Amino acid sequence: MGNELRLGAGFVSSTRVLRCGLAFVTVVWIALSVFHPGPGGVYDGMRTAFGLLLTVTAGTLLALRLRGSSDEREMWRPAMLAGHVLGIGYVAQTTISGLDASVEHVPEPWRDLPLAAAMLLACGLLYRGLVQWNRFRTAMSDPADWLNGLSAVLALAGLGNLAIRWSGSPIGRWPWWQQQGWLLAMGAALMVLGTLCAVASIAELARDSRVWLLTAAVTVGLGGLVAAPWASGPTFAPGSSIQTCSLTALALLAYASSQDPEPSRSRPSTTSSTTAGTLVVLVSSVLILALCAGSGLSDRAAVVYALVAFAGASAQGVRMMRDLAHLAQSRLEARTDDLTGVANRRELMARLEIAVTEQTDVMLLLVDLDRFKDVNDRYGHATGDELLRHVAGMLQQAAPSHALLARIGGDEFAMLIRDTAGLDVETIVKSLVASIAGITEVYDRTVNVGVSIGIAVRDSSTASEDVDAGELLRRADVAMYVAKRNQADASVYDESLEWQARQRSERAEALRAILTSENAGALHGELVTHYQPQINASTGAITGVEALVRWQHPTLGLLAPDAFLPLAEEEGLMTRLTGHVLQQAVTQAAHWQGAQPVRIAVNVSASSLADPELLRLIDQALTSTGLPSQLLTIEITETALMSRPEEALEAVRRVSEMGVGISIDDYGTGYSSLTYLNDLAASELKIDRKLTQRVVTSPRTATIVAGTIKLAHHLGLRVVAEGVEDQSTHDALRGIECDELQGFFYGRPRPPDLLDNRLRPRGPLASIIPRSRDTHGDIATPHQAL
Ligand code: C2E
Ligand code: CA
Ligand code: CA
Repeated sequence: MGNELRLGAGFVSSTRVLRCGLAFVTVVWIALSVFHPGPGGVYDGMRTAFGLLLTVTAGTLLALRLRGSSDEREMWRPAMLAGHVLGIGYVAQTTISGLDASVEHVPEPWRDLPLAAAMLLACGLLYRGLVQWNRFRTAMSDPADWLNGLSAVLALAGLGNLAIRWSGSPIGRWPWWQQQGWLLAMGAALMVLGTLCAVASIAELARDSRVWLLTAAVTVGLGGLVAAPWASGPTFAPGSSIQTCSLTALALLAYASSQDPEPSRSRPSTTSSTTAGTLVVLVSSVLILALCAGSGLSDRAAVVYALVAFAGASAQGVRMMRDLAHLAQSRLEARTDDLTGVANRRELMARLEIAVTEQTDVMLLLVDLDRFKDVNDRYGHATGDELLRHVAGMLQQAAPSHALLARIGGDEFAMLIRDTAGLDVETIVKSLVASIAGITEVYDRTVNVGVSIGIAVRDSSTASEDVDAGELLRRADVAMYVAKRNQADASVYDESLEWQARQRSERAEALRAILTSENAGALHGELVTHYQPQINASTGAITGVEALVRWQHPTLGLLAPDAFLPLAEEEGLMTRLTGHVLQQAVTQAAHWQGAQPVRIAVNVSASSLADPELLRLIDQALTSTGLPSQLLTIEITETALMSRPEEALEAVRRVSEMGVGISIDDYGTGYSSLTYLNDLAASELKIDRKLTQRVVTSPRTATIVAGTIKLAHHLGLRVVAEGVEDQSTHDALRGIECDELQGFFYGRPRPPDLLDNRLRPRGPLASIIPRSRDTHGDIATPHQAL
């Protein structure tokens, strides 16, 4: 830290001393050059000495700048080199002039070469530095800048050639190498000057004093060249205006480099100046060629320069065209969906915006895939992606020809149709639904997806209210959710859907409040658990109960699970709900334990099964009540197991390790593959009521159920049949050795106190006397599934 400070202070003071020295040397140099320009005499030696001193001081200052600042190194390194090159050129030129005068004659074309070449090279380096400076400030990148610079210099030199011819200037009588050297140096200086102006404006450097010092340096150099024909002639020799001015320019350049930079700010890139420069060069070279051809002002050098400049600018033009094509391509990519190639959300919204402002009839369809997640979960993302591509292709085919199809989310597509006259919504929906139903296989894997379509229409003739693009999309979304929830193909937005959506969101809020806060009961009612007995098929004794949740709603009465479970699932409340039921059910079961143990079965959804929180909830319920873990059974539906087999298997293994029983619920409704039973740590198989209820009427079903029971017994599983509603089913299931039975025949799901007298711990369990009609705990109708 201290060292840095000292270094900083030393740097500042040495810069100051050098700057003062440079100013002094420069003034003396100019004075000597102006007042004693001729060769020979005592002042000639002094001038040479001061020239050398100037070169060394300027070179040191430039080198110091490179040590002092790092972020502008890219600018000042070429500038420093340019200074050194000028210095070397000066020394070489002076040496040659000395040789020429004393020892031997140096051939003419070589005499001016060192300084002329040094000036050209210095211009090139300065140009490079400026371009870098611009990039540093503007983040603009243009790898072919040098092509631009060179073309510009040649075009300028070409124009100069023509101007000399046309004006009949005495320069025309100079030897050709002097003419061309002078013209090229002029062109280079002009080009650097132009670049400086461009950089100052593009990179907003106009307030930076260094830009003005650099401009002064280049202008002075240019001034020397311009003055040459009238002052010292086409010579670069000591005392010539060109030499005087070029060393003065070197001093100014060094002085500029020693200034502190203005605080910088990066600017967005622009290619307009490059484009303009290229155009100017192209036009100038064509002009030169036209003039040469048309007006008899034939000049070989001008033609050669113009041709090379034209070639350079054309190359630059071609490059710019290619860049434009790239730009167009990336703009296209910004508007399309990578995966499917149809439009993306941005494009849809842009087109929707236009359609809405143009007051045309607009129909917006939101097409959401059903069960896409299953495909992703079962077969992986590659298959999911391929399915989406299939879907996009099919929708595109089924859509009206002028519709715009876009993918606006994972498995969500939108279709914008303008000019809807003559189109029938129903026909469109039918063809879309049929097209998706046609996709049954992806990568040789069976898939089964459907769609829910939400439709919003904006009729320009009747639309009194202002419906913008966002609102139209929102309406289609509302309609789509209604379609999905009602398991309908499509739904068209109207005011009443809004009401339904509001109802739903109110219900979701209420459910959340019940599950998250203690005292929501008064306002929103509560979740209660009802219990349905399961009996031993041979003894008729109650061996277990299934816990079934209900919502005791303050205004709607007792709501069935299907009226709120999907809502809980969508709102991410399922695990909380499971925890709530688990705690209630296990507490109740602990209360019922008597001489005969009674098992309690709790339903767990696929999402809760996948939630690591489940194990903690089970553990908490068991430890807080003291219920032995063998008396708890978790019911998992077959479809839940199949939707995420790996995760499900792992969760089931952990639960069964706790000693908790696993029951496979709704067996016979899903993929019904007994093979996975082998890998699963299940203890019970629950035959779905759809099978149970056909056992009597369908001998085929009876055979399947009997076979299933046998196989399950082989695997060591207990079999429960649910949905037993009558004596004959009861008898049939007993006959094929079903272990346990559950159904309205033995009792509906009921509040715990209504089961108390059948389960109260008072010795051997009372056997069940089937009731012909058991109405307790009946559920409110209709079962609104919002
Ligand atoms: P489930 O697990 O298959 O539950 C059995 C359903 O069948 C219950 O409907 C029950 O009332 C009904 N049921 C019982 N015996 C008979 C019968 O003899 N005939 C007929 N027709 N039906 C009978 P519920 O209570 O409406 O429950 C519906 C579904 O909601 C349940 O089906 C279960 O999947 C789910 N569910 C209920 N409570 C919970 C819970 O706490 N958590 C979770 N995740 N799901 C639950
Ligand atoms: Ca169940
Ligand atoms: Ca079931």
